[in-house]
Amino acid sequence: MSDDLMIEVKNLTKRYAGHTAVSNLSFTVGRGEIVGLLGPNGAGKSTTMRILSCFLPASSGTVRVAGLDVFTESREVRRRIGYMPENNPLHLDMRVREYLKFRARLKGLGRKRSRERADVVMEQCGLKDVSRTIIGHLSKGYRQRVGLADALVHEPELIILDEPTIGLDPRQIRAVRQLIKGLAASHTVLISTHILPEAEMTCSRMLILYEGKILAADTPENLQRLMDNTSRIVAEIAAPEIELQECWAQMPEIEQFDVSPTDGEYFRCALTARDGIDLRPRIFALTRERGWCLRELTRKRHSLEDIYVQVTRPEEEEEP
Ligand code: ATP
Repeated sequence: MSDDLMIEVKNLTKRYAGHTAVSNLSFTVGRGEIVGLLGPNGAGKSTTMRILSCFLPASSGTVRVAGLDVFTESREVRRRIGYMPENNPLHLDMRVREYLKFRARLKGLGRKRSRERADVVMEQCGLKDVSRTIIGHLSKGYRQRVGLADALVHEPELIILDEPTIGLDPRQIRAVRQLIKGLAASHTVLISTHILPEAEMTCSRMLILYEGKILAADTPENLQRLMDNTSRIVAEIAAPEIELQECWAQMPEIEQFDVSPTDGEYFRCALTARDGIDLRPRIFALTRERGWCLRELTRKRHSLEDIYVQVTRPEEEEEP
């Protein structure tokens, strides 16, 4: 395993009774990367993360973290990982600082070091003002911060966060995302989410998981480029419908088109270009030549959401 790799997963499979949650999964995460594990509910994200964090044995395959085998060297691996599980279980009756010190001690830090680290992570996670508050009295957003502080307290190299913003309000989501982004400078981060903009905003690379398998793995930009090969143009033109139909049918650059009436004399033309050609200059010139009125000309880029929906679409729903 190269020194640049923080995670190396090879042919990982996890079977529960009668059900395969993760199937022959292979991927790597480099040091310093923020990688998003993205997929709908039940895709196998939590299962993968639990195995990486030594909380669950695999059925087969190998997983190495910082060059160490998670099955045979799990004590060493745990020291290097800060894991925030889904639902963020905390001791609700403890005060924030007391809890973080307690967690640091559990993770093997000495008394003095635990105090120091509790203070550092409270600062880092914006918890100074609530250091003496009982965790059960905190809002959900603050509890997430405590979970994050807990994951960071023993100075792990790798942070694994399972759905860290689930159930938070938009303001709390922003605060937690900011925090995660701030970690990127000095940590490797693996974050699971089924919220696409979250992955898009925080991650340098995304692994799209569906039914226990990786369907796509790339940077958000490259995934987008992949889809741009079939770029779509929308033009709203005032012209006789039949002429519009004939015109698009005769243009070799157009692979598919749809013409539908809107208000007044205008028709909305949705045009799919061959090989990702940008048809806009051609359409503009054409409307001028013919003396047609043009009131909208836009290139619709595929959003990451389209990609997500497309790659995670069950086969029976696929278009012929
Ligand atoms: P979610 O976002 O809903 O947590 P996920 O992508 O994290 O989804 P997993 O929790 O890893 O998915 O679950 C993957 C599959 O394995 C699901 O079909 C789930 O029902 C199943 N599964 C998970 N844990 C167990 C278990 N302990 N016993 C049996 N099946 C399980």
